[in-house]
Amino acid sequence: MTFINKGQPAVTHLAKKLASIKPSATRDVTAKVADLKAAGVDVISLGAGEPDFDTPDNIKEAAIRAIREGKTKYTKVDGIPELKEAIAKKFRRENGLSFGTDQISVNCGSKHTIYNALVSSLEPGDEVVIPSPYWVSYPDMVMLVGGVPRFIETSLGSGMKITPETLDKAITPRTRWLIFNSPSNPTGATYTRNEMKALGQVLLQYPQVLIMTDDIYEHIVYDDFEFETLAAVVPELFDRILTTNGVAKSYAMTGWRIGFAGGPVDLIKAMAKVQSQSTSNPCSISQWASVEALNGPQDFMAERRAAFQERRDHVVRRIDEISGLTCTNPKGAFYVFVNCEELLGKTMPLGGTTESDVEFIAYLLDHGHVATVPGSAFGMSGHFRISYATSLDAVKEACDRIDTACAALE
Ligand code: GLU
Repeated sequence: MTFINKGQPAVTHLAKKLASIKPSATRDVTAKVADLKAAGVDVISLGAGEPDFDTPDNIKEAAIRAIREGKTKYTKVDGIPELKEAIAKKFRRENGLSFGTDQISVNCGSKHTIYNALVSSLEPGDEVVIPSPYWVSYPDMVMLVGGVPRFIETSLGSGMKITPETLDKAITPRTRWLIFNSPSNPTGATYTRNEMKALGQVLLQYPQVLIMTDDIYEHIVYDDFEFETLAAVVPELFDRILTTNGVAKSYAMTGWRIGFAGGPVDLIKAMAKVQSQSTSNPCSISQWASVEALNGPQDFMAERRAAFQERRDHVVRRIDEISGLTCTNPKGAFYVFVNCEELLGKTMPLGGTTESDVEFIAYLLDHGHVATVPGSAFGMSGHFRISYATSLDAVKEACDRIDTACAALE
């Protein structure tokens, strides 16, 4: 017998806490673009933050070798010792941080790393300080585990960065974490050594606050900017910092799902406990591929960085030329966060008005066939995010389409 869903009301009981959780806007746009492409629409995606480059061959070969050698079974829950060693070496070599392998956790993507850390440490009502605009998943992950996000608004004046004063104001006796992401998604803002030191002085006054740094864009930096991580810049905070990272962006390995962290032993152990009762180990093959990624040649990154920089330069130049749009020139990540406030409230060629950034980006998609993400998904309406992690030709064409679409607004 065939059962046909005739659109009856849902009977499943869904947890109340899900009511305030949104699906990830950055994953949503990927799905939308895939649907449009399947329907034959010539859409250019400046949506998801996913490098267009391929995973380097030596990494793929390591994965194939792992399969051939039968490394296809369960592994230790929070990572094979070889990968933990490679991560500890990476932290020493690139970040000047010294971790024992008992201070390293390997997870199914950096998102999972962050989620495990929050599950392991938050009591209901505990607060997590999040600079805004923020990556879409931080607040929802906090809320999923019963915590309360506390946002620090930033502005163009402060380079979209928090300051010691705004940080100090946001901390309360319930604060458990600060999430610190530099280079930032969605603005590409980067903190200098001195700015981090100044924030560190504030954090030193609040021993109950842990700090989670999300360093996923560490290798995607431009001009003269040199990446440094908070635990190295303010070593007095080392014991309270969870330094999170992953192979997704640096090695073009988004689909392999390997994230990792270095931090306090008790937290790392708790994260392993959570993982042992939920996902178990990350994919064994991806772990072996990640060993090669971290231990193998790193020189391809400079070339990719240069390609990203060329695209950034193009986007920033074109946005500057488009009347009604403005942006800053980010020094990191592969995003440009564009202010479109001047083009809100305008009439679209087929009728209707661009009431908000959500309608504005829907218009760019419908009219210009360019996919972007609305600023409101990142906590700042009146903006939209461009991801230029796609070919220069596609970036150029997309900017031209955005220009034409904007010019057609009245
Ligand atoms: N970090 C990527 C972005 O902001 C998406 C990754 C994800 O949401 O899983 O587009």
